[in-house]
Amino acid sequence: MKCPAIFRNNCARTLGCNCLAAHWHRVLLVLIGLLLSWSGATGAELSAATAQPPPLKVLFLTGGGYHDYQKLAPHLTTQLHERIAANFTVEFGLKILGNPKFADPYDAVIYDVCDDEIPDAYLENALQSVRGGKPAVMVHCAVHAFRRSPKISEWETCCGMRSKVHDPFGPFTVRRLDSKSPVTKQFPEEWKTAGDELYQTISIDSKSHELLRAKSPRDGRDHVVCWTYQFGQGRVFATTLGHDMTTAATPEYLRLVANGLLWSCGHLAPDGQPAPGYSSSPAK
Ligand SMILES: [Zn+2]
Repeated sequence: MKCPAIFRNNCARTLGCNCLAAHWHRVLLVLIGLLLSWSGATGAELSAATAQPPPLKVLFLTGGGYHDYQKLAPHLTTQLHERIAANFTVEFGLKILGNPKFADPYDAVIYDVCDDEIPDAYLENALQSVRGGKPAVMVHCAVHAFRRSPKISEWETCCGMRSKVHDPFGPFTVRRLDSKSPVTKQFPEEWKTAGDELYQTISIDSKSHELLRAKSPRDGRDHVVCWTYQFGQGRVFATTLGHDMTTAATPEYLRLVANGLLWSCGHLAPDGQPAPGYSSSPAK
């Protein structure tokens, strides 16, 4: 039997060159080498597959009248942070919108605002950020905001729905329209809020995808309360729910907004679960 070159160094003094028997230590070294190179490649592949993506950086823009944003903003950002891999920067007031690049450091912007007025340039910067592809989440009064701006119709277009008034605060039942959308897959077929403002739908863009509706207990009219939309290049998730903690403290609402945020960023899996790496925030 011919001894392979790798084991042959000491073959001359090994009768019959019984390589495996005579040079077991070399065989062992080769096997260990092979094992190490295999495990190295697999380890690299493994770490690439399980690498935690950086948490989303989200601007939470808030403030304005009629709502306790001092309470809502920390509540929502804390609760969302606990549910998905996202870190939030809370900004009170619209001043940041004076910078055309205000959204550049962020993966998404949540608008939880209720200002009737806004400088034209500020609103244009907000519109342009969504148009250019920055994901946006519109919460409650964001859909009613900026009503005194000459650009209000553009903002309504950006939101995907037109609404000007709401029913008085009170309980109502929300029903799910789309059980297949990843955003509402886990949302109950029917869900009752103990109290909120039911925003009246004047018109909804034909390209908006309706997710939730509610019938007015007062007059029986039916209104869209949650939908998705695309404005330019930007994905928009919107819900008119969330006037105060009555709705905002519920797990159903928090999961809905968390899913909406992930969807807007393209990180919600088809099964309604956060995409790999986005299910919870890394420990601080
Ligand atoms: Zn409200």
